[in-house]
Amino acid sequence: MNNQAHYDRITDAWTLILGENLHYGYFESGGETLRQATDALVDTMAALAPIDTNTSLLDVGCGIGAPAFRLAERNGCTISAISVSARGIAMATEASRKKGLSNKVAFHQRDALDNRFAEASFDVVWVMESSHLMRDKQRLCAENHRVLRPGGTMLLCDLILKRPLTLADIYRLREELSVLESSFGKAKMETLDFYQKTMHAQGFVEIDSRDISDEAFPTLDKWQENLERNRVPLAEYLDEKDLDAFARSCEILKELFAQEVLGYGIVTGAKDD
Ligand code: SAH
Repeated sequence: MNNQAHYDRITDAWTLILGENLHYGYFESGGETLRQATDALVDTMAALAPIDTNTSLLDVGCGIGAPAFRLAERNGCTISAISVSARGIAMATEASRKKGLSNKVAFHQRDALDNRFAEASFDVVWVMESSHLMRDKQRLCAENHRVLRPGGTMLLCDLILKRPLTLADIYRLREELSVLESSFGKAKMETLDFYQKTMHAQGFVEIDSRDISDEAFPTLDKWQENLERNRVPLAEYLDEKDLDAFARSCEILKELFAQEVLGYGIVTGAKDD
């Protein structure tokens, strides 16, 4: 199944497991709720660039819009948000109308690898936990660089590899990786170093990154708790086999975080003036 079909199928169910923010949380104390921590990840990213009422921001892989709504409400920026999922865009557009944010946030069903926006049309490009779903990171970074104005900033956060995987790793982890793929879609994680080098190659400057694996890790227990608590309503969208696979995926992710195979990171860079 391609990622578009995957996201169309799981978007409703995921809100019952992940909440409206389809990304990990940033747990500073560990005592936060999932909602507080996922909002905190948005705020942590947003603090890395000047984002205010004069800012035009492109949200790449926008889910059902929760990060965009928070940015529009707290920072007052104007947002174009894109996703390949028709279902995600429909849910986000409806939520935007209900929140009275349609004048601030516009959602479009578009591919991040060919976003069709004009050159130099955004101050900030925001890539929150969608880049692992795009194999061609060069292309993603090139498109982001193209649509940024000189001096603009790209902000990205995602699940990362803590070290490059060897063929032996892929062989050893083949069963785990296939369970993860059944729950989360086809993913291609990379190291922070890889992201930095790829952005550099596409012309970004002032590139920086931060490993926030420890702050992201408690997310996995929260997803498991939500899944077990919501098994009855979830049965409307996913069969038991899918739910069991999701629960197992959380266990696998915890194990791979513990083994320092996977982690979570933030990468930033600027387009030269
Ligand atoms: N940023 C959102 C959603 C993250 S989930 C949030 O934090 O809540 C990943 C999102 O990336 C989904 O909306 C999925 O449809 C989108 N996506 C995956 N591949 C994409 C592509 N090639 N172009 C645009 N969006 C994509």
